[in-house]
Amino acid sequence: MSEAVPAKEAAALDAADGLAAKRAGFDLDDGVVYLDGNSLGALPRGVAGRLSDVVGREWGRLRIRSWEESGWWTAPERVGDRIGGLIGAAPGQVVAGDSTSVNVFKAVVAAIRLTDTGVRDEVLVDAATFPTDGYIARSAARMTGCRIRAVDAADMAREAGPRTAVALVNHVDYRTGRLHDLPAVTAAVRAAGARTVWDLCHSAGALPVHLDAAGADFAVGCTYKYLNGGPGAPAFLYVRRALQDRFDSPLPGWNSHADPFAMDPAYAPADGAARGRVGTPEILSLLALDAALDVWDGVDLAAVRAKSLALTDFFLRCVEAYVPRGRVESVTPEAHGERGSQVSLRCAAGPAGGAGDVMAELIRRGVVGDFRRPDVLRFGFTPLYTRFADAERAARVLGEVLEGMQGR
Ligand SMILES: *Cc1c(COP(=O)(O)O)cnc(C)c1O
Repeated sequence: MSEAVPAKEAAALDAADGLAAKRAGFDLDDGVVYLDGNSLGALPRGVAGRLSDVVGREWGRLRIRSWEESGWWTAPERVGDRIGGLIGAAPGQVVAGDSTSVNVFKAVVAAIRLTDTGVRDEVLVDAATFPTDGYIARSAARMTGCRIRAVDAADMAREAGPRTAVALVNHVDYRTGRLHDLPAVTAAVRAAGARTVWDLCHSAGALPVHLDAAGADFAVGCTYKYLNGGPGAPAFLYVRRALQDRFDSPLPGWNSHADPFAMDPAYAPADGAARGRVGTPEILSLLALDAALDVWDGVDLAAVRAKSLALTDFFLRCVEAYVPRGRVESVTPEAHGERGSQVSLRCAAGPAGGAGDVMAELIRRGVVGDFRRPDVLRFGFTPLYTRFADAERAARVLGEVLEGMQGR
């Protein structure tokens, strides 16, 4: 297949792209096609300058005064509200801090504590979950006298029953890119009398999420993927407002105390989102995240979603055009309503090696995706900076690599 037709189409799509100008807000090199923003988002240009001010002036000159004067102390709630704006949460319900793993622990244990554990002793976990969620949920269940039951996320609504305390679900499956129906599952789990904890790692910043509207109970997610907060950026925790007064954190650190500086030996929880805090916030990474979130100012998430679907559709068509027939198979759902912002291609081992070797060769040729064992090539599409031309080039290079490896 000649490259002329898809390349021309890519140019037309890029020219008509209302989000195209957003790419200039990122520090990207045109020689590389970066399709791994679902693992580590690219660097927004504003971060370095902001961090240099935080380090040089706020820490260097103001030192301890910055906890008040530079707003460090309240940054977890302030940044949490900015994230809330991107996941359909009204202010006061999201706090930034800790890792997703730690926030899964807080949310699952708190959800169990909200139920009558004598009756409800079952924790449902998405059978294909990102491993950390499963490990943490299992430990939370052991600590609370519950048991874990792994069920297909697609069956979660049907499986929640009178024994279920909480269902922990990945909104988008990290391996296949399958998007689960958050409103429907939330409603069904609630109808069964249980709570939901949503892991938004692969949906926050990738597509519109409407936590409040869906009546979700808890949500967690990381900020170094589609939110571009940087390596190890703090995660977030959402607790629905109606549950905040009863939210009983299993990690009640001094930062979540109603009056932290009273240094009271007795614990009294703070009101609102601050109750989700634990210890001293990770200020440098939190403020890097704060700066990174500036790229979202004025962005319409519906436009992000439309471009994401157009990009993944276009990439799949280019793969069909360029890749030798039968060499790869998409495991990402075709239906838009079931697709996140990535394409995962199963690539069986050929004469030249397996999917890991194919991805290594792609990266050598300037197309960066990632490989998930045993046989998945994963390509993440980040609408704020991925161009249709990138999708075309990635598919073309993939075709060249697989052709070159055939019969070798
Ligand atoms: C990336 C990811 C995580 C990562 O958790 P950390 O604690 O940040 O390492 C957790 N859950 C899901 C679904 C993920 O995709």
